[in-house]
Order: sequence, then structure tokens, then C-alpha cells
Amino acid sequence: MGGSGFLGPVGRSLVQPLRAWRKERQRAEARRFLSAVRRIERVAPPPGRRVVAMTFDDGPAATPALPGDGTPLTEAILRVLDRYGARATFDVIGSTAAGYPDEQGALGTVYWSGLRYDHYPAFGRDGEGGAEAQPELVRRILEAGHELANHSYSHVAFGPMRLVYGRRAFLPGFEACVADVRRLHELVRGRHGYVMRFGRPPHYIDATADGRTAYDVYAALGYDYLAASFDGGGWLPSTGDYARDVRRMVEPLERALAADPEALNGRIVFEKDGYDQSLQSPVVDGLPAQLELLRRHGYEVIPVRELLEISPFADVPPGDPVAEAARTLLRAGHPVAYRDNSLQPERKLTLGELLRMSVPLARTPGAPATGPAFYAAAACDPAAAEAARRVFGPAARSGGWPWERPVSRAELARFLEVPLRGRPEEAVRRGEALLALAARLERAGDPEKA
Ligand SMILES: [Zn+2]
Repeated sequence: MGGSGFLGPVGRSLVQPLRAWRKERQRAEARRFLSAVRRIERVAPPPGRRVVAMTFDDGPAATPALPGDGTPLTEAILRVLDRYGARATFDVIGSTAAGYPDEQGALGTVYWSGLRYDHYPAFGRDGEGGAEAQPELVRRILEAGHELANHSYSHVAFGPMRLVYGRRAFLPGFEACVADVRRLHELVRGRHGYVMRFGRPPHYIDATADGRTAYDVYAALGYDYLAASFDGGGWLPSTGDYARDVRRMVEPLERALAADPEALNGRIVFEKDGYDQSLQSPVVDGLPAQLELLRRHGYEVIPVRELLEISPFADVPPGDPVAEAARTLLRAGHPVAYRDNSLQPERKLTLGELLRMSVPLARTPGAPATGPAFYAAAACDPAAAEAARRVFGPAARSGGWPWERPVSRAELARFLEVPLRGRPEEAVRRGEALLALAARLERAGDPEKA
């Protein structure tokens, strides 16, 4: 998260439409190909229940909450969560201690914790934060039933982002990003016996310097991408009035719930286990008010992992037969969702999707996270390739697979070797295909045979 406030009115007038256009393009791209890595920012609200997840970035921090009575920041957050029976996701880092020599930038700017590198919890105090130096805090987080997610070991950006972080160092490329994320993964697994399964890139910078993405990085680790869809605040520069900073964290949530009590159902809220850009921690006082509001509206605050167990997809609610079929396939390791975690059951099934959904991820190690190369990897699977050749013979031989070619019901029936009701020549929808694939998987009883 960051602002473009320093650009002035002319710069802003250019930046806003450009950002909107880029966001729209990214959204369309995220819905074009199935993906090994799902971007989790909200899930379809489960009927009859209100659930929300809170994610705390950049900790743990043993430095005191500010203002405060000397209680370590992460400890103060844990006490509040405990008081409300809330269980959260802590998006921890390893250590920022290697990022020296460096200089501290001005408070109130994005460079508040360092010019070339972020230093958490604060400049010159790296040893008082991070999972590497604070095993006791990590242990307390886990003991209280919270979840850990991987915010990278060093918190160095995956790639350049010249507009907002022009002076920032970034990792040299894909391999360095994988190594950095894996380092924290192994630290937490080795020391605490805990296996993380979500990653969030520092500052949400996705593009690596060598043309890959955070999705490829997370595919290498078997992670999903942890995003958020509601800003809990606590990271902006202070208004100069602490009470107002705290209110600023609470009011957006209050307004959202007043307008629609269901507004937060299935959402992931961004929070900070760290200081704001003015070296204060309004989260400690804003969080109780946020949790009180959620409680009053009947919400359970649960870790992201549990949120996904309740409702696995963005667009189809749990209990719907298509969502349950997709859940069965997902559990057996089949990629079934687009990068935005949608299933889009009404969309026409394509040849690429059929091929890719029929091959578990474990059978295509090293494949890119999404796109034509992700589909091509599935075509290398002997069983899938054989079935595809049998059904789509001439098309498959015409040089490169026609990934986006729609599949008819007759072709799906032949590919799966099952009878299907309905007009044979009609293009089949994804929902029907997911049901047929899951039924075949359950009949086989062994995910390896599907
Ligand atoms: Zn961060």
C-alpha cells in the first residue's frame, strides 16, 4: 500500500486512470487462465454464518506499542485478540537486519523505516523484530491458535516499483525471490514445526526484475497468494492527533457494517503488526473497537486457512454442488480455479482447462503458475496427452494446442469415458465439467488415477 500524494494534481490526474486501466487489465488477465496459485482476497459468503479474517503484516515486534506502557507491540495485539476470542493470521518476516548500510528517511513518508530497505520494527532495531530473532513471540502466536503466513524473509521487494519506491533496493530476480521466501518457510518449519501455505509479497510488488511474478514464486512453494479486500488501517502517517488516528482505523469498518451488516462476510482485512509511518501503533487501540464492531454484528474472526475450509472459492458459495465438486478436486491437488480464485461455472469449458484440470499439480513440478505454459505442462502428462489426442486428434496435431477452443459435451464424455446427458454437440459449461471430473475422481477412489 502506498500513496501518490507527492505527485501533485497533474501527476495524480494521469496516475489515477492509468492505475484503473492497469487494474482492469490485471483483473481480466487473472480470469483468463486457471492457476496453480490462487489469489485469496475474499471468499463467497457462507450462508447462515458471518466469518472474516484479519492479517497482521510485518511482525513480530518486541519493541513497545507507542504510545503505551512498555508492552511489546505483538504481545499487545495478542492480548486484544485473546480478549475477543479472535484468531488471526500473522504475516511474519524473517529479519531486515542485513539491509545496511542504509539511512532512515523522513517520518510520515514511505521511507520512514529506511531509504534503501525496510527496517522492522524500526530503523536500527531490526533485532527486536522478525521470526529469526524473536522465536518466543512466534511460539506465543502459534500457541494462541493463530496462523502464520510468509511475508518473505528479508522484506526486500520482489522487483522494482519506480513510481512509489524509486529509491528502494529489490531482489535480482525469480530465483532470489524463491530463496528468500523459502528461507523463512524452512526457518519456521525447522524451529516451530509449522508449515506455512500462504505468501504476501512485500508492498504487494508482484513483478520480478527478470519477468516472472509472485505467482511463480508461490507456485514453487505450493502456496496461495494472500491478498486483502478491506483496509484495517494503522499504516498511514499520523494526522498529528493520536485519537483521530485510532478513529480513522475504526470509522471505515463502522460505515461498511452500518450500510450492510454482511459487508465483511468472507473478507480478508489488512492490519499491521508494526508501526505506522509516524512510528506509532494505533492498531493497539483501533483493534479492540474493530473487534467490538464485528462481534456486535455476529462475526467470527478466524485464520485464512479456516476461512478457506468454510468457503474455498470467490464466486460460488459452499454447499453449491459445483463448489463442492471443485473442493473435492482441489483437495486431490487439481487446479480448478482462475488466478482470482473464481470458478466461473457458466463459462464455456476450453480444451486447455479440461486438460489442466485433469492433471494434479504434483505431476507437473516446476511448471509456471498460470498461462499457456501452465497448460502445456499438463499436455506433457502421458495419460492426459493420450486422452486429448484420442478426442481432439486433428486439432492437437495442428502445431501447438488450441487452448481456448471450446469443448463439446460429446468431447468431454469421450475424454472422461463417461456418459453425459444433454445435447452432445453443445459447448459444455465449466460447472458441468467440474461435476463430471469430481464424479470420476470419486469413482476412481485414488487421486493418482484421475
Ligand atoms: Zn510488509
